Amino acid sequence: MAHLLLKNVNKVYPNGFHAVHDFNLEINDGEFICLVGSSGCGKSTTLRMIAGLEDITSGEFYIDGVLANQKSSRERGIAMVFQSYALYPHLTVYENLAFGLTLMGIDDDIIEEKVQATAKILGLTEYLERFPRNLSGGQCQRVAVGRALIRKVSIFLMDEPLSNLDAKQRVTMRSEIKQIHRSVGATTIYVTHDQTEAMTMSDRIVVMKLGVIQQVGTPFELYFYPRNLFVAGFIGEPPMNFMYGSVKGGKLVLKDDLDISPIANDVAALEGREVVFAFRPESIMLVPEGQTPEGCYVFDSEVDLTELLGDVTNVYANVDGANVILKVNPHDTPAMGAGCRFAVPYKSAYLYDRETELAVETDIVRH
Ligand code: ADP
Repeated sequence: MAHLLLKNVNKVYPNGFHAVHDFNLEINDGEFICLVGSSGCGKSTTLRMIAGLEDITSGEFYIDGVLANQKSSRERGIAMVFQSYALYPHLTVYENLAFGLTLMGIDDDIIEEKVQATAKILGLTEYLERFPRNLSGGQCQRVAVGRALIRKVSIFLMDEPLSNLDAKQRVTMRSEIKQIHRSVGATTIYVTHDQTEAMTMSDRIVVMKLGVIQQVGTPFELYFYPRNLFVAGFIGEPPMNFMYGSVKGGKLVLKDDLDISPIANDVAALEGREVVFAFRPESIMLVPEGQTPEGCYVFDSEVDLTELLGDVTNVYANVDGANVILKVNPHDTPAMGAGCRFAVPYKSAYLYDRETELAVETDIVRH
């Protein structure tokens, strides 16, 4: 296991492009960390700097308290799994797994033992004599993970390892990787653009945008306490609903004036500011016409479209032209074109400053 520390790490590529800005992160022994963000936000660059495949332009990277900027990948004790499985096509699964150990000059009987043990963990025992071309995508990915596992390193890096798999295989591999992590305990950094993968696998998630960390936290913290608009919109599917307005006379002016004192500590400080009122699709209650439950904001909307998913119906509606998505019980699905009155409890409502994009301070406990 390994403790990692990145201090003010920057990456400027030779063409002058500043891909990662002042990256600061401490990763505990055995932690599973996901780096998430849209394509091009600097996730792979960060991972490659940790791996030693890319120079760190400035800043410091420590492994167990020792500066590692100048160390080679091998010296760092790192194994990496790539999106392309990078298997040797002319070698069998056994030989692919054994390859690194053979190069290191390890005895054949020890290699045999390690290959068998790794194959067992990954359910590959019956495929050891096959070539990669005769394996499914999921099995290839398992061999790729096995090649990294077999080296018994203390740091495990994965760059979008599941993106070549179909949806079903991804779900299976997700839980397999998590279980392997639990049994092996190596500090793991996992890059993905898929927020569901990040939410389900991580101890903590790092959300990045344009090379800058937006927020670091547990899946729970990111979901319930997104600190800015980007994180609020990135984590959650369907995404958080945003309604734009401004604060006048202490009220949020949308169509109706909303009293924002229950969800903002300092209403006066918001006077005159453009703000975003936000709530998650599942945080609403449908309410009968004319009723206004206590402790809630109430909106009247018109239903544009409904989507039955089985366990839930997504209702696409608009509140005076502002589009919202509501998750409702399928048995309560409103008719398309009908009116739909819904309530958002104060404890489920968020407010963001439109200019700074930061969450407005609140004492609300959201669980
Ligand atoms: P992500 O993994 O989040 O998709 P990357 O780390 O691959 O993002 O890339 C971050 C940014 O750096 C992108 O804008 C990409 O075009 C740029 N970039 C990546 N590699 C190079 C390079 N070798 N030279 C210049 N720019 C690069």
